Amino acid sequence: MSPPRTERSATLGYSVNLLDRRAEYRDDTGYMAELAASPHARCVVLQGDVPLLRQRGGTAEALFDRTDLAELGTVREKAFLGLDEHGPIYAALLEAPAPENDQGHDDVVAMDLRSLAVQGVLPPHILGVFAQAKSLMHWHQRHRFCSNCGQPTTVGSAGWKRECPACGAQHFPRTDPVVIMLAVRGDRCVLGRQARFVKGVYSCLAGFLEPGETLEDAVRRELFEEAGVATGRVRYLASQPWPFPASLMIGCIAEAAADELTVDFKELEDARWFTRDEVRQMLAGRHPDGIGCPPPIAIAHGILKAWAEDGEGF
Ligand SMILES: [Zn+2]
Repeated sequence: MSPPRTERSATLGYSVNLLDRRAEYRDDTGYMAELAASPHARCVVLQGDVPLLRQRGGTAEALFDRTDLAELGTVREKAFLGLDEHGPIYAALLEAPAPENDQGHDDVVAMDLRSLAVQGVLPPHILGVFAQAKSLMHWHQRHRFCSNCGQPTTVGSAGWKRECPACGAQHFPRTDPVVIMLAVRGDRCVLGRQARFVKGVYSCLAGFLEPGETLEDAVRRELFEEAGVATGRVRYLASQPWPFPASLMIGCIAEAAADELTVDFKELEDARWFTRDEVRQMLAGRHPDGIGCPPPIAIAHGILKAWAEDGEGF
């Protein structure tokens, strides 16, 4: 089902996923066997955390059929992602090849998912499928043993559950919520930068939601911890699957109550106020001091645009 085009989330990288997940059929083993036998079955392939693509006539293809997959190597994990208009699509995680057996395939390239998004190598709906596949396969790789009793687990529900035959525990894929937010006051907003950012780039502050916390409380806590800015009202703007490894970025805007900032320099290299005009210049890539912001695939870009250009705020 396509999201409405006006939905802000749908404009971000990794956010468009048009697959019909058929979640209610995952335990129907007859139906799943029928899909798996389909001549139209295809898969996206990961080696470790890295997508594999086939170069064909100058374009990169993300979907491999059964014959292609067999040539690539041994599949360690496989999961049913959903149906597109042609048939079922799976995620396949390959065993890492032993160095002496790694013959390589001239037309197959490995490229990390962040570069694929930033460079626009794949269409948005395929990036969304890769985000789903990468987060799910990352979970499988790290849940081969039961977290309750330590025994090996087995896969169920077409790749959406792991079960422990020893103690009966069931384990389900997890998503880690992260709040990412813009504190605003009148015509100004707070942005910060971490030392690892590209030189000159400032972005929204962000942090993991903690157990027992509302979104609003997490937004206020993180803003106060990292920048010492006290905030009141909080509004949700948009969300974005962020497959590094399995987060959901939840974009918010918060109303600052004062101008004072107390930057936590253990977390941030700098944080300061920016005017709306400055943010517009950053979005357009023409700030006079060369200050920039994250690229359009990132939710931080979407939040800044929502406030500086689309009038979102309080
Ligand atoms: Zn167990």
